[in-house]
Amino acid sequence: TLMSVADIRKSFLDFFASKGHTVVASSPLVPGNDPTLMFTNSGMVQFKDVFLGSDKRNYVRAASVQACLRAGGKHNDLENVGYTARHHTFFEMLGNWSFGDYFKRDSLKWGWELLTQVYKLPPEKLLATVYIDDDEAYDIWHKEIGLPAERIVRIGDNKGGKYKSDNFWMMADTGPCGPCSEIFYDHGAHIPGGPPGSPDEDGDRFIEIWNHVFMQFDMQEDGSLVKLPAPCVDTGMGLERLAAILQHVHSNYEIDIFDRLIKAAAQATGCDDLANPSLKVIADHVRATSFLVSDGVIPSNEGRGYVQRRIIRRAIRHGYKLGKKTPFFHKLVPELVALMGDAYPNLKASEQRIVDVLKAEEERFFETLENGMEILDAALAGDAKVLPGEVAFKLHDTFGFPLDLSNDVARERGVTVDEAGFQAAMDKQKAAGRAAGKFKMDRALEYGGEGNLFTGYEQLAAPAKVVALYHEGTS
Ligand code: ATP
Ligand code: MG
Ligand code: MG
Ligand code: MG
Repeated sequence: TLMSVADIRKSFLDFFASKGHTVVASSPLVPGNDPTLMFTNSGMVQFKDVFLGSDKRNYVRAASVQACLRAGGKHNDLENVGYTARHHTFFEMLGNWSFGDYFKRDSLKWGWELLTQVYKLPPEKLLATVYIDDDEAYDIWHKEIGLPAERIVRIGDNKGGKYKSDNFWMMADTGPCGPCSEIFYDHGAHIPGGPPGSPDEDGDRFIEIWNHVFMQFDMQEDGSLVKLPAPCVDTGMGLERLAAILQHVHSNYEIDIFDRLIKAAAQATGCDDLANPSLKVIADHVRATSFLVSDGVIPSNEGRGYVQRRIIRRAIRHGYKLGKKTPFFHKLVPELVALMGDAYPNLKASEQRIVDVLKAEEERFFETLENGMEILDAALAGDAKVLPGEVAFKLHDTFGFPLDLSNDVARERGVTVDEAGFQAAMDKQKAAGRAAGKFKMDRALEYGGEGNLFTGYEQLAAPAKVVALYHEGTS
């Protein structure tokens, strides 16, 4: 029998508990300790202050299964959803940490032990990358673990743009940083894509599953590296990517949870082609938006709430593409809660509220979606290669089409959007509004770009305090 997602969570935490780790609950998607960060995008977010030394815990080893969101902030995988086999907006990250305790040797050896002995992955399908001059990590892989040299790839810091991947991790421009070592799984020669470090590494044949970051330096203002007195380890492994391997499928979208969500999406939209990429997008987005509601983020026109709105509207547009003209998205919530509510009791407790929030947003957007799509279709007809910025802005301003939604439609038809023109049209309207003294705040849509400080916190409901302990109720 194949391991379910629930089995995988439990064996991960049990394994690290057996190695002296304290199991820590997932923290909310809205980081409680960092107003500059849009969403929790990795397991280390709740430990950031521990690494910086301003927070102390009564343990030096921790493990968690963390709910993560990579949409709108520094890491944004929204544009990958529906296109790659391995990216979600919302996903779960399995992680283990050492706060000045163990270092490279234990981290890599335990990682290998877990993958090959507990999860029983065939060792010959695994590859590792190390930072270009990290001989210590290289030797652990090669001499101690026995990974053959041809399956260890040295990768640099991408300063010269030579590699797409980057094996030097930094928390910020200064502060804790260090080399990392990533473990990849080879899904087989029938899938396009090259190994890490090769020109076609972006394909989905070799899929990155686990990143081990070794924080051993403190980067100074002048770029020099000072050794940390007590080096730390921060690892993250994508649960859905591991599940795909363990369930003998290639894509994350074929694992147990997604199989059922995609079927629910097919039923709600009346689509009978289960391979339709729009179903993947809808299944991905119902997770992201439901977890966001359960953590207090409701659709609005700025900050986190606007990212929430963008994700919901993208999903609705994909339903529209499949022929839906009335609300359908909220109908997936019961299936999601059935699949993930045991591991995340707060999701279960929020079920009715999630349904209400999603449905209200659907009702609102369906009022303008059809007319907006007519305008967009007309602008994309013919052989234009660029959608004019003024059209994208009109869609945004009058029909509630977030820019990335218009982008998503344009991309399907091989057209790009003139984003500079969009911004210019937006600036022009703002200036005109100000001049006329009727500038409305609700028109001031702020995008959650990199480094964009979030300002709308007060308008949100308080983030949920109740967070699930993963090792409970994962039967
Ligand atoms: P990729 O190169 O595939 O985009 P990454 O290098 O951005 O992944 P990390 O930041 O190293 O990912 O995160 C640690 C792990 O989390 C990854 O090795 C992967 O297993 C998982 N992961 C990262 N992004 C996603 C995502 N969008 N969806 C699902 N899993 C993810
Ligand atoms: Mg990435
Ligand atoms: Mg990567
Ligand atoms: Mg990585």
